[in-house]
Amino acid sequence: MVQVSLVKCTEYHTDLLEDAIGQSLANIGFPLKDFENKNVALKPNFLMTSAVDKAIITHPAFFRAVARIVRDHGGRVVLVESPAMESVKRVMKKGEYVPIVEELDVTVPSNGRKGVILNPNDRRFKRFEVLGPVVDADIIINLPKLKTHGLTTITCAVKNLFGLIPGLEKSRWHMKAPGKEAFAELLLDLNEALMYGSSGPKPILHLVDAVVGQEGNGPGPSGTPRKIGAVLASTSPVAVDLVAADLLGFDYRAIPSVVGGLERNLGLSSPAEIDRVGEDINRMRVDHFKPARHSISTATYDRWPFNRKGFRNLLTSKPVPQEEKCTLCYQCKAICPAGAIEKADGSKNVPRYDYDKCIRCYCCMEICPEAAVDLKSGALEWMMPGS
Ligand code: SF4
Ligand code: SF4
Repeated sequence: MVQVSLVKCTEYHTDLLEDAIGQSLANIGFPLKDFENKNVALKPNFLMTSAVDKAIITHPAFFRAVARIVRDHGGRVVLVESPAMESVKRVMKKGEYVPIVEELDVTVPSNGRKGVILNPNDRRFKRFEVLGPVVDADIIINLPKLKTHGLTTITCAVKNLFGLIPGLEKSRWHMKAPGKEAFAELLLDLNEALMYGSSGPKPILHLVDAVVGQEGNGPGPSGTPRKIGAVLASTSPVAVDLVAADLLGFDYRAIPSVVGGLERNLGLSSPAEIDRVGEDINRMRVDHFKPARHSISTATYDRWPFNRKGFRNLLTSKPVPQEEKCTLCYQCKAICPAGAIEKADGSKNVPRYDYDKCIRCYCCMEICPEAAVDLKSGALEWMMPGS
């Protein structure tokens, strides 16, 4: 059985968070003494520079509570994260992390050094270059923010570890694994490599900041903050994502990384193997939590006929920049893995999109600081199951 803890926490208040996180670690049976003399890598979600109340990044008070527990039990805290487009320092400044890092003596390494992990299992993707300090860490604590996501339905434990791939290299990985199912398999290959690809199995704890998450067109500025009032924890990324989906009222069977994780038996092979500890989820489930548009469609864009350009344009939503919001910053162009975005040509003050090249990864939408990228449904998308 795999424990997944669900603890109520309705505010980003220091004492409440420390209690909730301490309880969560106890619920999953993690002994705090195991932090002693260990290098503990904390991985928040630093998608982009943003104000804390937008609920885009892991809340600084959540990070602080975890860092304090680790430090108070003799661990050395290292912050590991690599935003695609910006420096960690910039995100930390706007995200109110700087005083915490100073107060708790958290090491923030420069992101120049990389390390290699090799998935020992026979998978499509076996070799990953990740941030060097992650490879050196004795324990990783994954601190995802629970949000909706156009490609992966939710971004939680499995997806958050993708941020350990340095900067814009993440974008290239999208091109190697276009489509929902292929991208989910890539994420699972990476999770597996992190768990088993070092000299021995590495303990990874997943502590989910679901006090306030994002609904609607998350996980960036287009998403809407929504109070969830929870902290979730597990040693299994697949199990905690499954319970997180349940908490939001989403069917885990529409989340390819959960389905794929069960199929490959990554910690568990069935929801029946989850030992739910803590609060009764039936008393905490959030009503009418809005998914990202079309993210719960069960269409698999990496298979015929959806992988044919004509079908893709008819059957899938496309990202469309809105002239009234766009500032022509071209962050969308920089992140696009498919080279599908060109500068404005003067006829319209928005970047030009080539939808035959676009692989529908929605990175441009996720990264746009002005929430200027909207989704337009494909003409026949209504026919798709789950749309
Ligand atoms: S759509 Fe967004 S990211 Fe792209 S140029 Fe306009 S404001 Fe910048
Ligand atoms: S245009 Fe946007 S959705 Fe399409 S491939 Fe580029 S970044 Fe991804």
